[in-house]
Amino acid sequence: SLPICFIIVLLSGLLFLRKKYRHSLADDIRSGIENEEFFLVYQPVICAEDGKSKGVEALVRWQHPQMGLVRPDLFIPIAEEGKLIVPLTNYIFERALKDFADMKVEPGFRIAFNVAPEHFTQDDIESKFIHLRDSLERIGVKPLIEITERQLLTPDIFQCIESLRQLGILVAIDGFGTGQTTLSLLQTMPLDYLKIDKCFIDTIGQDSVTSHVLDTIIELSHKMNYVVVAEGVETQEQADYLTSRQVHFLQGYLFAKPMKLADLKLWLVEHFKH
Ligand code: C2E
Ligand code: CA
Ligand code: CA
Repeated sequence: SLPICFIIVLLSGLLFLRKKYRHSLADDIRSGIENEEFFLVYQPVICAEDGKSKGVEALVRWQHPQMGLVRPDLFIPIAEEGKLIVPLTNYIFERALKDFADMKVEPGFRIAFNVAPEHFTQDDIESKFIHLRDSLERIGVKPLIEITERQLLTPDIFQCIESLRQLGILVAIDGFGTGQTTLSLLQTMPLDYLKIDKCFIDTIGQDSVTSHVLDTIIELSHKMNYVVVAEGVETQEQADYLTSRQVHFLQGYLFAKPMKLADLKLWLVEHFKH
């Protein structure tokens, strides 16, 4: 009948538009890499014990010629789908190397990179990571790779994590608890760092089931000797709670927002004055 036909036509029209939009955004990402429209902002990571920054997390931003500043939540999934995450991640590595080339940092300073599991399906991955490690080493910086845990982490990815660690690169699972990795899987994971997602930090101070899950994750991480990082720390109460539970590193707006390189440089100078 007529209404059904109409709905079908409308739906297929919408699907077509969605596909077209996705397609063109993927094209834009490709040209955006060539035209260097992507840049990095850096958010300091704070040692809970002494309150000092031990490194930063690199977060990508896109200055799109028409759309303006585009958030990674929007384009990272499209880059992943369109097989563009590998060139984008490689670009991000190079960009960070350039950004930090002439910077004086404290000994042991780390830059954490977000890497999607899809990135590990590329062939010459090991040589790329060796290049990253050695180039950073020359400027006194160590890399940390944060693996974003959206899909289930497969044995293949475990293998990649293990080979990264053999290269002396530390590996973190990012946003633990929000993806599909279970607590029991956590116990068999070859891992150095575990990053607890902001949604758990938000529950601190509430007597909810989630806040008990937070305690469990922290306890288990200690048993497994993982270094624990809490992200999205916004209040002093949260920072105090996490510090009292021996969470090693804190990151969030309470300490610093992600900053452009120039602002980060000023921030670091100010931070290490005291
Ligand atoms: P993520 O890795 O979990 O990064 C943390 C996000 O929380 C960042 O958003 C950061 O700006 C934000 N954030 C940090 N502290 C606070 C806080 O105290 N309160 C609140 N409300 N937010 C806070 P951003 O930069 O928009 O990045 C979103 C996501 O996009 C990242 O989540 C990550 O999954 C992805 N992403 C960002 N950069 C890259 C990249 O270079 N490569 C890949 N593969 N993914 C990236
Ligand atoms: Ca991250
Ligand atoms: Ca996260």
